[in-house]
Amino acid sequence: MAVKVIVIGAGLAGLRAAGLAAKEGHDVTVLEASQSVGGRVDTELIDGFRCDRGFQLINPSYPDAQAALNLNDLDLHPSGRGVAIRNGSGVQVLADPFRHPAYLKGLLGGTLTLGDVAALIRWNRLARSDSLTLQQTIDSAGFSLPLRKVIEQFFSGVVADPDLKTVASSAQTLAWYFVKGIPSLPAQGMEAVAHQLAEPILEHIRFSTPVESLISHNGQVRVVCSSGEELIADRVVVAAGPRTSARLTGQPEPTMNSLTTWWFDAAHRPSKLPFLYLDVREESRLIHTSVISNICPSYAPAGRHLVQATAVGAHGLEDSEAMAQAASIMGVHNPDWRLLVRHDIVNALPCLEPGQRPLESGIDGVIIAGDTTEPSIQGALASGVAAARALGSPTGVLPARERFNDTFTLRIRCIGDASGIWEKLTNLDNHTRAIPLTVVTPAQSRMIDGLEFVGLTSLGPVKMADRMLVRRAEAPTPGKPGLLQVSKFGPVAGEVEASIAQLGSEVEVIWRQSLQPAWLPRWLRPLGTVVARAGYSIGLRKLLT
Ligand SMILES: Cc1cc2nc3c(=O)[nH]c(=O)nc-3n(C[C@H](O)[C@H](O)[C@H](O)COP(=O)(O)OP(=O)(O)OC[C@H]3O[C@@H](n4cnc5c(N)ncnc54)[C@H](O)[C@@H]3O)c2cc1C
Repeated sequence: MAVKVIVIGAGLAGLRAAGLAAKEGHDVTVLEASQSVGGRVDTELIDGFRCDRGFQLINPSYPDAQAALNLNDLDLHPSGRGVAIRNGSGVQVLADPFRHPAYLKGLLGGTLTLGDVAALIRWNRLARSDSLTLQQTIDSAGFSLPLRKVIEQFFSGVVADPDLKTVASSAQTLAWYFVKGIPSLPAQGMEAVAHQLAEPILEHIRFSTPVESLISHNGQVRVVCSSGEELIADRVVVAAGPRTSARLTGQPEPTMNSLTTWWFDAAHRPSKLPFLYLDVREESRLIHTSVISNICPSYAPAGRHLVQATAVGAHGLEDSEAMAQAASIMGVHNPDWRLLVRHDIVNALPCLEPGQRPLESGIDGVIIAGDTTEPSIQGALASGVAAARALGSPTGVLPARERFNDTFTLRIRCIGDASGIWEKLTNLDNHTRAIPLTVVTPAQSRMIDGLEFVGLTSLGPVKMADRMLVRRAEAPTPGKPGLLQVSKFGPVAGEVEASIAQLGSEVEVIWRQSLQPAWLPRWLRPLGTVVARAGYSIGLRKLLT
């Protein structure tokens, strides 16, 4: 059934959702606050240089980029598959020996040890966790000091987070894309990605039309623009970036990481390398620098060279300091560079911390899209596809987008009152009674905000300890369901959320659990989920009834 759809925001998520909705025959209008498409993917043309708004690359291995874009038409130029590391003693290149055999020596030069290979495998396993920060997984993997610094510096740039508080699984997903494909630059600048998506739906886009608020009423949504104009739609896709999307749907605004990119015009080529330079010296405040025209010559006019330098967070760098540092990283003395533009991007990427719930619209007919669950071009495009799919559902409710497959939901109905069920659910001794072979400590305790507790399961000599943290415990009150959120760490890490609502004489418990047993091979996970679901179904009934 064709419906009237308004998409708020012409970034990649909004463009992808609108393109698919138009193809499905829906009546689509895109309302965009600015005067151009692309949102955070944009390019400024300055004196013949293409300066992307903040250094960025597109990875052709992104499945949603393959599905949504004509990658051939983008004329992608791959970056070097490796990094140039600037340390106290000079520059060392760590690169894929098959693609860059000339740098094989760098791989054997001491930064990478055999122990690091084992640490990398360990990190890959740890980083599947949704409960650990990226920094925690790097700390625990056991990298040698030099490689650890390189990895920290690299990821700080990828997630724009100097403290690496980002949930590890999100960084791991991105790391796998780096393994599968080579991040690249389109010949016409990153904006070409957005232009390609926008081209078939240009006549549906209204520019300079910021949306102020949304009101859902009688199965329709009223969209109020800043100009005072009001539009009515059956469905609204909110793809206005994490902060504005949260505000428009009445949710707390997520934390955003910030970064600055400086673009310099260099008369002489500062380096021939097509790699990202990472500076691992103590005094470094730049996160990386590179000669962009070495990757994609069309980014600079003939005979000139384009250099980018990027810092993340509150770096406090002046333009001249950024230039001096970038030059020193590449070993250039007295650089004859000219600053073309400095991009300070306050809302660069959402910081997804462990246990943080993604934005979810609670408003009928309103669907959220964007990079709020996966901060990347891939994440934005995939969310656009999911939003377009939800347009066909009777209420426009987006099926929950799970971070991984090992998730299940149980609905249990019991006779009684919600506060009695809450008491049973949050009493740790009850868990000891209900779960076979397991003792939950501290005894005689209740789950309250911030409580840490441990479930020790013993099977003969084998003992398994699951450490848990209560993130939120709100008891039910008349008219308001109770909410319990617990993070599990240990052999079976994950998130658990339970809501307890009074429905007449019955209580409905909805138990949602995302499990990630780190030791279970990926192909066995679906079976693990089936077994866990059955076990929890029996255990919960025993606990609550
Ligand atoms: C500097 C930088 C580097 C990056 N590097 C990479 C990279 O190398 N690889 C990668 O995969 N990803 C990278 N990313 C991430 C990627 O660019 C984003 O995840 C993606 O572009 C987000 O798209 P979006 O559509 O969700 O949001 P946005 O691009 O933020 O789009 C939101 C749109 O909504 C509009 N809007 C806002 N408010 C309103 C309103 N009230 N009414 C109407 N319209 C509104 C905005 O103007 C904008 O056009 C980078 C991001 C940045 C900023």
